[in-house]
Amino acid sequence: MKSKGMIIIVSAPSGAGKTTNCNALMKRDKNIVYSVSTTTRCPRKGEKNGREYLFVDEKTFKADIKKKMFVEWAKVHDHFYGTSKRFLNDTINKGKDVLLDIDVQGAVKIKKQYKDAVMIFITAPSLKVLKERLLKRNKDSLDVIKVRLANARKELSYLPKYDYLILNDKLEKSIENIKSVVNAERISIKRNKKI
Ligand code: ADP
Ligand code: 5GP
Repeated sequence: MKSKGMIIIVSAPSGAGKTTNCNALMKRDKNIVYSVSTTTRCPRKGEKNGREYLFVDEKTFKADIKKKMFVEWAKVHDHFYGTSKRFLNDTINKGKDVLLDIDVQGAVKIKKQYKDAVMIFITAPSLKVLKERLLKRNKDSLDVIKVRLANARKELSYLPKYDYLILNDKLEKSIENIKSVVNAERISIKRNKKI
């Protein structure tokens, strides 16, 4: 029987570079599949329904909660976000690794249900750099950026729950470090007991 795929959770304060790093990782590692979450937030310029997220209204999201469609869901920066239970289980059952770009609350909920999930936290060098990156990204209003920066401190308090810390200063180094984590986890004894 083929062994199950690995769940890779990546969390970060908004603007730390999670999306950039996740996209680069998936380009380099074709065994990793991205879990597209459902959200009630509006699409940003350039985002496509079904690619970055499934964009739904609050009524639909709440109906999906009732139907137990989500393996976890959370309210993050004033909007709802949820991970598809079926997609996650189908993917790991096929032996593919699945990448979850989810917030700290969701990460803890997943870890409770899937003990072998790998938890990676990405940070920017400082809150000042975080703010600069959010401003430079130029995709959120100043009010939205304020909320995200205020939440960054709270998110950092979850750090001890994570397995790995990636400092996203020089992008190439950061991607290389994430790839090293994935490679090391793949050959860990706990994932290769059947040999
Ligand atoms: P997140 O998904 O964590 O909110 P993004 O990946 O969208 O963050 O990155 C936020 C902004 O910072 C983007 O404009 C991105 O191009 C930029 N960025 C990401 N990583 C770095 C880095 N190592 N150095 C400089 N800028 C970066
Ligand atoms: P953004 O709006 O910037 O795309 O994402 C905001 C936050 O929501 C990020 O921390 C992101 O990781 C998180 N997020 C995205 N999808 C999910 C999800 O399905 N569940 C949870 N708990 N958080 C999510």
